[in-house]
Amino acid sequence: MYRGLLFLITVGAFAADADLILHNGKIVTVDAAFHAVEAMAIRDGRITATGSSREVVARERSSRTRVVDLGGKTVLPGLIDAHVHAIEAGLSEYRAKLPPLDSIAAIQDYIRAQAKATAPGTWILVPRTLPPRLKEMRFPTRQDLDVVTDHPVAFDGSYVWGANSLALKVSGITRDTPNPPGGEVVKGADGEPNGILRNASQLLKGITRTQSFTADDKVAALGQMLQLYAAAGLTAVGDRAVLPDDAAIYEKLRARSGLPVRVVLTWRPNGARPLEDLVSEIRASSWTTNQGDDWLKFGTFKITLDGGQSVGTAYQRMPYGPFGRQLYGQTDPDARGTLFVDPEKLYGIMHAARDKGWQLTAHVQGGAAIDTLLDVFERLDRERPIAPTRSHVMHGSFMSEAALNRMQRMGVIADVQPGWLYFDVPALQRVFGLENMRYFFPLRSYIDRGIILAGGSDHMIGHDKNGAVNAFNPFFNMWACITRRTSAGQVVYPQEKITRQEALKMWTVWAAYLQFAEKARGSIETGKFADLVVIDRDFLTCPEDDIRRIEPLATVVNGRVVAGRL
Ligand SMILES: [Zn+2]
Repeated sequence: MYRGLLFLITVGAFAADADLILHNGKIVTVDAAFHAVEAMAIRDGRITATGSSREVVARERSSRTRVVDLGGKTVLPGLIDAHVHAIEAGLSEYRAKLPPLDSIAAIQDYIRAQAKATAPGTWILVPRTLPPRLKEMRFPTRQDLDVVTDHPVAFDGSYVWGANSLALKVSGITRDTPNPPGGEVVKGADGEPNGILRNASQLLKGITRTQSFTADDKVAALGQMLQLYAAAGLTAVGDRAVLPDDAAIYEKLRARSGLPVRVVLTWRPNGARPLEDLVSEIRASSWTTNQGDDWLKFGTFKITLDGGQSVGTAYQRMPYGPFGRQLYGQTDPDARGTLFVDPEKLYGIMHAARDKGWQLTAHVQGGAAIDTLLDVFERLDRERPIAPTRSHVMHGSFMSEAALNRMQRMGVIADVQPGWLYFDVPALQRVFGLENMRYFFPLRSYIDRGIILAGGSDHMIGHDKNGAVNAFNPFFNMWACITRRTSAGQVVYPQEKITRQEALKMWTVWAAYLQFAEKARGSIETGKFADLVVIDRDFLTCPEDDIRRIEPLATVVNGRVVAGRL
């Protein structure tokens, strides 16, 4: 009561006293009518007025106001990436730049260079690389990695790893090694291990899988990463997999220097633990959706339900078939991928989290994983409508018309990665056939059903906004939604293209909606936070292929320039 009253008095007394006025621009508000205005005023981190340059300057300017002439430049609401992994990505190039590993030949060069720089016998770890994005479109085998024979070599392909002959030898992996639970030591035609370890990298002995970092390193790397997000035009991100230690890193960074962008955290406990343990931890935890404030809060509760389409472990409705062998080292052409948590257990976990007040999601890439998650959502929805929780499908790469209809019926929304149209369709369509790519990120079908889409990159490795896995340049990702063009230049199911306005909503108001923040940010309207980005060309009218090349000139968060200059 008291604070509300004070706020009213303050606004009343100092209305014509902006900190900053931006005028003579094209400010794309992304309000309900998608207005563009010339000018806006900002005070104490909030937008206090929008309108024509004449009006806003006349009404809001005082002697202390900084007035910036935009010279006709375009301003967008601050962009939101609903899906990043900022700590992991920050650390990935914290000590050294990663090599661009886009082919097996490049991987071999990297191995040779590492071998020269280290003593024989030292493990060489090839940083995480996704085989569908290699020029050769196949998983490197033992023979590929045998370019050095006096160093054990391991190739990190996420769930699936590769090892050279010496790595297999020092780890004691032979044709007789039993498969670990849920994993496989893949064999060649001769019955010998071919170096591919599916969900079995734990068999490699003596390798230091990750560099070690102190808490201070992590805080510094996170700070760097968030600053790079700001430079890319992002003003808020969703970190999609944190544990208590990670949340503490965010708190430390905030206490030390403040956060350059707003962050919403997703708690992802390890779903492999026993159900009773998970349920009691959920109940005992102090975390839940919206706990925190406008800079740092909790958003979603997440379980990783299946593997990845990039490594042949996404749990599919259809088999991976013969091409799965080349791309992922699959041995069984009937394999459909891996479901990490069985449906009954998933229901138990999600039920407890829902009762605790959480927004729910699961990492689901394969179609059968999507269907499993929707089954659980339907059970929960029958108990109590799920729509108000804004629970969502995460990724949902292999959608179907039936799944879309179920989402629409329940009011389930989605966190999608359209950049994968560009990066992954060329390889995936060889695995599954183009006909099975019909509902690969069917953006038009979602939007026509009124399903809210939050745009995200799933950025996890690398600091370069275009070269990272996955590219977090929001203009590239919006371009992918608008053009549906692959890295091979093909347009995938053009009937699923969306407009520039819709793509912009995915990275602004709709992402804000997923984060329970649409009343505070996501559009340029009076009363909302002054989160915005000034860009170097007109997003709405520039040639379509220029959209991905748009560069931010200044990123403003809470009324303060955090990257570039005004
Ligand atoms: Zn992710």
